[in-house]
Amino acid sequence: MKNNNFKIAVFAGDGIGPEIMKEALKILKIISDHKNIDLQLQEGLVGGIAYDNYGTPLPDSSLELALQSDAVLLGAVGGPQWESLDYSLRPERALLGLRGNLGLYANLRPIVAFDELLDASPLKKNLIQGIDIMIVRELTGDVYFGKPRGVKKGKNGKRKGVNTMVYSEDEIRRIAIRAFEIARTRQKNLLSADKANVLETTELWRDVVTEVGQNYPDVTLKHMYVDNCAMQLIRNPAQFDVIVTTNLFGDILSDEAAMLTGSIGMLPSASLGEKTALYEPIHGSAPDIAGKNIANPLATILSAALMLRYSLSMPRDADLIENAVTETLKEGVRTQDIHQPDKKIIGTEEMGNHVAKNLRKLLI
Ligand code: NAD
Repeated sequence: MKNNNFKIAVFAGDGIGPEIMKEALKILKIISDHKNIDLQLQEGLVGGIAYDNYGTPLPDSSLELALQSDAVLLGAVGGPQWESLDYSLRPERALLGLRGNLGLYANLRPIVAFDELLDASPLKKNLIQGIDIMIVRELTGDVYFGKPRGVKKGKNGKRKGVNTMVYSEDEIRRIAIRAFEIARTRQKNLLSADKANVLETTELWRDVVTEVGQNYPDVTLKHMYVDNCAMQLIRNPAQFDVIVTTNLFGDILSDEAAMLTGSIGMLPSASLGEKTALYEPIHGSAPDIAGKNIANPLATILSAALMLRYSLSMPRDADLIENAVTETLKEGVRTQDIHQPDKKIIGTEEMGNHVAKNLRKLLI
């Protein structure tokens, strides 16, 4: 009998989803076999495959499974065969449905430059060497949800578009607390990106983040205007530890930061709520390479590591998985997307097997 039981909802999704998920589950199984935990991995359908089977991208049974779980691990959804469907039935709606129903308000995107892959970055090696940034983006507020919104015809007969940037004090406080807590486990430097010089909403953002900071004297808080932050991410990314920002600014900054490493198949993400969280690679379902055993499973494996760290309180095991990935890259094996001239190209399953082998070594 194991001491800790965790229920994990597993949604492989579409395209390369099933292939990359299989490798992540292989890694989780090794952890659960070696440790005193019982990981109950319960698979469900979301996305295009759910639409094909149930006529909806997020069936009630899948939502219920997610709501009853300690965490959700997701592959990717979407594909050309579902692109002509009504917007409400598209595979991607499942993501919005999960985020909304699970109350996932904090999106975390770690940006780590692996020494072995520095050549993949469009930036000079010396700029990105050693970068380890965590972007904490607020996920449920801001212009994406604020009202009024829409396009209306004005009295002069011309159309006018409106979106509303809105944040309550409580929404800002809870994301700030998350960011300070995360900074505490890292280098203890938190940068809050806003536009407090021209937007009152983010003036409030700055005030509340500063207030929350008084409870975290061990963390150094700095504020930066988001336009400068976007520039600094390219100019000198190594200066950042944790960045916290609004939904809109985070959407843009996190994609910009993702490209620092240049390898989409390597980047995991976490979306945290009060009760549960969802972990997924940042890339999509890559229909162009689906079913060919060439997709890179490392972003999904690294997402599973984040799940251990943030949902299952197993930070050491998360470190071990990340170290096993580093060891694998050091061995000189690469999937096609991160290929370098002198390295050996291997497939999705082989890559999973290499990480599994290295993890087993680290667990001894
Ligand atoms: P994509 O991320 O799927 O693919 C972009 C490019 O990167 C492709 O050339 C692809 O082959 C490559 N790529 C992506 N992941 C890879 C991996 N793990 N290993 C190797 N190469 C990889 O983005 P896209 O082509 O714009 O979208 C394809 C589908 O995915 C669309 O239906 C889109 O809506 C959906 N999508 C889903 C998510 C999600 O599930 N979270 C996110 C983005 C896009």
